[in-house]
Amino acid sequence: MGHPFEKHYIDGEWVASSEPAMIDVENPTTLETIAHIPDGTPEDAVKAILAAKAAQPAWRAVPLAIRVEMMKEMLRHFVAMRDDIIALEVKELGAPVTFTQSAHCDYQFTRIRSYIDAVQTIKFEESYEASTVCREPVGVVTCITPWNYPLGQIVQKVVPAILMGNTVVLKPSQHTPLTAVLMAEAFDFAGFPKGVFNMVSGRGSRLGEVLATHPAVDMVSFTGSTRVGTELARSALLSMKRISLELGGKSPFILLKSDDYTKAMARLVPSIFYNSGQTCTALSRLLVPAEDLDKIKALLKETVAKIKVGDPTDPATEVGPLSSLAQFRKVRDYLELGLAEGAELLVGRIPDEAEAKNGYYVEPAVFTDVTNDMRIAREEIFGPVLCVIPYKDVEEAVKIANDTPYGLNAAVFGPKTEAEAVARRIEAGNVYVNDAPRDVTAPFGGYKSSGIGREGGVAGLLEFSQLKAVFDRSTF
Ligand code: NAD
Repeated sequence: MGHPFEKHYIDGEWVASSEPAMIDVENPTTLETIAHIPDGTPEDAVKAILAAKAAQPAWRAVPLAIRVEMMKEMLRHFVAMRDDIIALEVKELGAPVTFTQSAHCDYQFTRIRSYIDAVQTIKFEESYEASTVCREPVGVVTCITPWNYPLGQIVQKVVPAILMGNTVVLKPSQHTPLTAVLMAEAFDFAGFPKGVFNMVSGRGSRLGEVLATHPAVDMVSFTGSTRVGTELARSALLSMKRISLELGGKSPFILLKSDDYTKAMARLVPSIFYNSGQTCTALSRLLVPAEDLDKIKALLKETVAKIKVGDPTDPATEVGPLSSLAQFRKVRDYLELGLAEGAELLVGRIPDEAEAKNGYYVEPAVFTDVTNDMRIAREEIFGPVLCVIPYKDVEEAVKIANDTPYGLNAAVFGPKTEAEAVARRIEAGNVYVNDAPRDVTAPFGGYKSSGIGREGGVAGLLEFSQLKAVFDRSTF
């Protein structure tokens, strides 16, 4: 494929790190090392931040129409890399190829197009009673992203930030950094002015501090765990930087009483099991009417048995391995914890540590006899593990749904009017009613410990701007 994985992209150039150390990128299916990326240093990060700072005044002055044309050009180059993007995501993340095509690749092209359309609807200047209000870029934005949707999280930050006139420094996850390099190439091929887009590779524990605290940084946009996000935000706030955080979740799926629960499975299964459950919005708590628990257990057994787990390069595979040995161990520990807490493992099994040598596979698992105070019901497992929690009536279902520190996503399935009414009562940034599709133009983000700020559509663009009121009705 011949991509410059071993370099940073700083000030319009592919450059070596200031130190020779590299990080291995592992294929979680074959356990082969597939590439090396720089173990970037704080010095590298400072170079990138200063390049973004130097590029800021000229880039914010570029007319929107030209910024839009350049982003379209970036997208054109990026789309031309489609085959490489898919092949790399299958290798670095272990995501099944069919799912990768739609979720990790084509959907990201859709998102970029959506931002290009949406930015052209924004009013950058508005007249108020005795003033003009201008919407301006924030400045230099550092973007720190996780490994689970490697491109998705990058697109949600870098594209709107640059369209809005900011310059950026991206630090992708060191675990799945490869498709970010392709995106950097697309920015390079599109001829963006040097310093508008910069990328440093490496570990967050080494680069995070400088990306969050350097005086030339104006905003930190982070997606990842609530623990790291909280630490990072605390550091960034000391110099009053703008902060945007997309964090974890423990999202509820309320099944309302009905005669037929089969249709709900099509919403549930991809959400909690695809991407091996490594999805921030995963509907990981299934709330079911207690009176129908047995019926639903039988349906879950039958449904989960049909999920095809296996080699992610096989187009028929629905669930591949977990992304790393650390994830494999983490999910294994949670499966053991569930049993220790008294839950029943209705479907799935706990793999032996030794099985990891055949790829980091954990079969889809369903816990029943779960109560909402168990750790498996409160903590983000980030694996293919569903917790089934019975409820007596709708009041109790809403109470259980909202009894979580998180508030990222939710779903309600049942008679439409009732489902819509329940959806309004859920404390989460997104709620799906029945089989409703996702809307790429809608704001995405969390209530409570799931984050601060929104991504997607107009709301996601506005996040990367600030308002200035100019009192301009002067009299001489
Ligand atoms: P993580 O918090 O460990 O890492 C995220 C990023 O932060 C990585 O680039 C990492 O290198 C960096 N990082 C790690 N330590 C750092 C530090 N001390 N300072 C600065 N940066 C640091 O998260 P992860 O394991 O990569 O991703 C999984 C988490 O991301 C889950 O909690 C998931 O819910 C969340 N997530 C949220 C969303 C959302 O949109 N809300 C989307 C995807 C993932």
